[in-house]
Amino acid sequence: MTAALTDDLLDIYGALSTAFGHQHWWPAKTPFETMVGAILAQNVSWTNAAQAVRNLQDAGMLDPHRLAGADTADIARLIVPSRFYNQKAERIREFAGVYVAEFRADPAAMAAVETGALRERLLALRGLGKETADTILLYACEKPVFVVDAYTRRIFSRYGLLPEGASYDLTQRLFAENLSADVELFNDYHAQIVRLGKTVCKKSPLCDRCPVREVHGLLQCAGGRD
Ligand code: SF4
Repeated sequence: MTAALTDDLLDIYGALSTAFGHQHWWPAKTPFETMVGAILAQNVSWTNAAQAVRNLQDAGMLDPHRLAGADTADIARLIVPSRFYNQKAERIREFAGVYVAEFRADPAAMAAVETGALRERLLALRGLGKETADTILLYACEKPVFVVDAYTRRIFSRYGLLPEGASYDLTQRLFAENLSADVELFNDYHAQIVRLGKTVCKKSPLCDRCPVREVHGLLQCAGGRD
């Protein structure tokens, strides 16, 4: 852990949470809804994923046993708004089957598994990459695992805290090695990054309205320089 990096990361988080307020993620009523939502949110906006979640809910299908036993075509029909719905229907069905068979459809049983072993198990499922697996670990199982996405890479490479094109693992280590393993912090920090990436640090960044622009004059935010 590097004290200066820790300070920088905490100061950035502080500026974001002051500007945006706590983000109260994940927007779901149950851990299983979070898990399904994480799969549905792959490569699509949250608005679309949320509509697919609602469709499952309205059809009484947001249930691990029902999804595990359902026909993939029936799941696909309900999750059309999430795009790639045939693939995602298979992934959800397979995930639900494992959740029932190996964890008794009990989020506490799943969360009781050692973090590294659980991550390996999730990554072994078809179609679950690191971002989805880590989202499930953090937001459904409350494990202190930092979730990385394209916004994280973009923002922190612009800041000069990561090289351009940094890998998922390198990006994750920046946070994991320089912050305490704190579920609440990791939960809201990722949510704040998504908010910043969506609204301010876009492909063409709106630096003049960026809440982290003035954090530490020493940080070299590429987009923030005049
Ligand atoms: S100052 Fe600009 S480039 Fe830097 S994080 Fe903010 S919006 Fe992004």
